[in-house]
Amino acid sequence: MPTGTCPECDADVHVDMDTDKGEMVSCEECGTNLEIVGLDPVELDIVEEETLDDDDDEDEY
Ligand SMILES: [Zn+2]
Repeated sequence: MPTGTCPECDADVHVDMDTDKGEMVSCEECGTNLEIVGLDPVELDIVEEETLDDDDDEDEY
């Protein structure tokens, strides 16, 4: 199984054989979301965390 190196914490990140470039994986060590930017060798890029719900002001009821 190919492995890449987490740019955040230097841990080995396992990548499935059939994973394609541009897919997302997450580091098991630090939980950082990583995008596969290369496959031979495996290269990983940190994906900037973005909040999924774009509520500007938090409404709490
Ligand atoms: Zn990591």
